[in-house]
Amino acid sequence: MPNNSDDDNNNNNNSTSNSGEEELHEVGSNRPACASCKHQRKKCIVGDCVMWRHFPASKMDEFLGVHKVFGISNVTKKIKSFDDVAQQHESIKSFLWEAMLWQVLHSDS
Ligand SMILES: [Zn+2]
Repeated sequence: MPNNSDDDNNNNNNSTSNSGEEELHEVGSNRPACASCKHQRKKCIVGDCVMWRHFPASKMDEFLGVHKVFGISNVTKKIKSFDDVAQQHESIKSFLWEAMLWQVLHSDS
């Protein structure tokens, strides 16, 4: 039996393999404004804006629905009262729910 201790064929090139293509977005400069900031024509500042996590620009419709019923300042105030993102998310969900119900109830005017 030959002693086959020749284990040298695990290709050892994981030094620079980790997503060198992906550009890191520079914080605060290159992010599109969230729906809320877009609507208010504000600069969407990372770490300052609490809405972008929940209302990215693609969710403008949802944002407008909530804004129409509750007003963005009330929603923002509420969201800011939670430190926990999960809690913020729950809160947003209930805002969305209520806004949706409200609009259904008031749709036939
Ligand atoms: Zn924003």
